[in-house]
Amino acid sequence: MCQFCHKHGEGKKWYLQAKNYSDDLVSDLRRRKFIIDFFSHPEELSHEDTQLERLDQAPAFVRATLVPLVSNRQKKVHFGQVLPIEDVESIFNFVTSVVRLACICRHVTLGTEQRYCYGLSTAPQGGRLKEVFDRIDTAYLNGPDVTGFEVLGKEEALDSMRRHEKEGLCHTVWTFITPFIGGICNCDRSDCMAMRSTVVHKMPVMFRAEYVAEVSPDMCNGCRQCMRFCQFGAIGYSAANTKVSIDATRCYGCGICRASCTKDAIVLKDRTSVPAAARLW
Ligand code: SF4
Ligand code: SF4
Repeated sequence: MCQFCHKHGEGKKWYLQAKNYSDDLVSDLRRRKFIIDFFSHPEELSHEDTQLERLDQAPAFVRATLVPLVSNRQKKVHFGQVLPIEDVESIFNFVTSVVRLACICRHVTLGTEQRYCYGLSTAPQGGRLKEVFDRIDTAYLNGPDVTGFEVLGKEEALDSMRRHEKEGLCHTVWTFITPFIGGICNCDRSDCMAMRSTVVHKMPVMFRAEYVAEVSPDMCNGCRQCMRFCQFGAIGYSAANTKVSIDATRCYGCGICRASCTKDAIVLKDRTSVPAAARLW
């Protein structure tokens, strides 16, 4: 269990606690302002990316001081966790409304509108969260579809998530002033600034999933399709036995490799049951 499960989930998966999505939390004015500011000022994200690149060049002692400071600050305001599709489905069992919106990261990295982010709420028709999203300055939506935020049916939203998984995108759940959870994003390493921060710049702003992937050598035919999809470089190939294997210490437990495997050779195991990865978040 990650730190948030202990702190915000009473020892269970924190993102499966309905109270963390509730209208009560989003009624807090400071939180509402934070969400509106976050989406209305993409230039802030761009600025942070530049600072991370500078930090990459800093001496080791500077990084050793700053990285935990910044990461811990992020845990209080906007932090994420990777989660596989079955946990997305579990979340969808209790949320009552879904709003799809353009990804602000991709606005910064690609300069186009890409609708990969989903706001979730336990209140009918989005409740106060929808009210908050409706107040966001949509000037950053500069792509072909500028219709603002879309209210989706749950099945429609889940189908989209499954399609994103086939595209190789990794599901992540996000707080907006922790522990309130605002929604789920679908990320990749080249375009998602949070993933880049965590994986490329080694500045963690999200936890690994509560799972680790494992390959069954008997079922693997060595096609290497899963390797092409792993965003985290966790899968290696052995020419000697023409099979792949997963490095549990690098695996984030997203399950995207599993979705790409036509031989059903990959399963997700509980992270705590894998000693090499049990304490890696
Ligand atoms: S996609 Fe499946 S069969 Fe192909 S290499 Fe990966 S685990 Fe093996
Ligand atoms: S090995 Fe599979 S589950 Fe682990 S990070 Fe890579 S794609 Fe995700």
